[in-house]
Amino acid sequence: MKLAVIGTGYVGLVSGVCFASKGNEVVCVDVDQSKIDKLNRLQSPIYEPGIEQLMEENVRERRLSFTSDLQEAVRRSELIILAVGTPSLPNGEANLQFIERAAADIGEAMDGYKIIVTKSTVPVGTNEKIRQVIASHTSFSFDVASVPEFLREGTAIKDTLKPDRVVIGLDNPELEGKLTALHRPFTDNIFVTDIRSAEMIKYASNAFLATKISFINEIANICEKVGADVTEVAKGMGSDQRIGSAFLRAGIGYGGSCFPKDTKALIQIAGNVDYEFKLLKSVVEVNTGQRYNVIAKLKESLETLKGARIGIWGVSFKPDTDDIRDAPALEIVETLIREGAVVKLYDPIALDNFRQQFDHPGLHWCSSAEEAAGGCDAVCLLTDWHEFKEINLHKLAGMMRQPVLIDGRNVYGREQIEGTGLEYVSVGRPHMG
Ligand code: NAD
Repeated sequence: MKLAVIGTGYVGLVSGVCFASKGNEVVCVDVDQSKIDKLNRLQSPIYEPGIEQLMEENVRERRLSFTSDLQEAVRRSELIILAVGTPSLPNGEANLQFIERAAADIGEAMDGYKIIVTKSTVPVGTNEKIRQVIASHTSFSFDVASVPEFLREGTAIKDTLKPDRVVIGLDNPELEGKLTALHRPFTDNIFVTDIRSAEMIKYASNAFLATKISFINEIANICEKVGADVTEVAKGMGSDQRIGSAFLRAGIGYGGSCFPKDTKALIQIAGNVDYEFKLLKSVVEVNTGQRYNVIAKLKESLETLKGARIGIWGVSFKPDTDDIRDAPALEIVETLIREGAVVKLYDPIALDNFRQQFDHPGLHWCSSAEEAAGGCDAVCLLTDWHEFKEINLHKLAGMMRQPVLIDGRNVYGREQIEGTGLEYVSVGRPHMG
């Protein structure tokens, strides 16, 4: 099939590359010329394991190309995928300005019948709005469908090539054959429903996962007070098939470009129809508090944060991505700076993105975990990058001014800490040292 993908971010680029790898002819479009220039040099503007190799193969096979010319891309394609951002407005609602702009541009560009598929996460009713915007810019006929995206950054290619399921929301039954055929190479588990339900499935799924995370984090907070170990509790709970072990890892809370914005947007979606989503409001509140527990734990271990040297391991919201949107590290580091600490930061990939968002003379940018820890009063592990698991903890204790390790992701086991001389504070587990 001939496809155009609008937006070459984490979702658009990965989707475009994966559709091309299944034999479709794909053109990826972005308004950001610097991204398109980079892509045309076969460099990915995002860090995502495996993306550049797959890009290169498909460009070589002439199935994949990149352009900023939306009109040409729309005209040569039968199906257009919308994958532009839908960030939060200050009130939590989804900002639809990029969707509406792209829809208007598609309408202007159309020269015949097209299918427009929305992959961006959009509030219930948005595809209807997209239809109206396009219709006000063209007299050609078209259909819209909602195919929400569930990929996770860091494993985005695997998630796209082998998704648990694909959800297709449509109102014209004639589209079903075409859209299922397009997704069949990825999975047989294709769920076809109406457009509004498809839009809601995406928000409900993310809200449910966020709820699991905040739930286990609250259990962790109670474990700390009653002397239980949350990792044992989660194992015991998760082996019950009705519960499942996924998303039961206690830590410093969720971040990233999806869960924070999608939970807030769903609260707004409910609010707009006079429904107060009390449970989800608590999930968000718990998640914010969980970040600040790192600060509280530091204050308990050190007399004061003023003048303290704090090493930060990991700033991306999760490992294997350079994405720092709504990463817990942002709020934690800003708070440390406000309280007068000197902060030494290390992340294998995401420091440049972090620096673009937040820079300060009190921040020191380090090129290794050891450099970030050297001479510090405490180290806080905020992202569970694999390399932190391999650190020599005996050596770590020796290079710090005070050997305090705050493990925000429960990376280390008791046996790794014992005998190191570290004061070890994790989440929902007994303190050591
Ligand atoms: P992103 O910010 O990484 O990328 C969006 C891209 O769209 C940018 O490159 C931007 O320049 C481009 N763009 C904006 N307006 C445009 C226009 N009119 N024409 C062409 N390009 C335009 O966003 P993302 O993380 O890929 O997310 C995209 C959507 O997918 C969001 O709705 C998000 O909620 C959803 N989603 C994201 C993820 C994820 O893990 N990132 C997962 C599932 C769903």
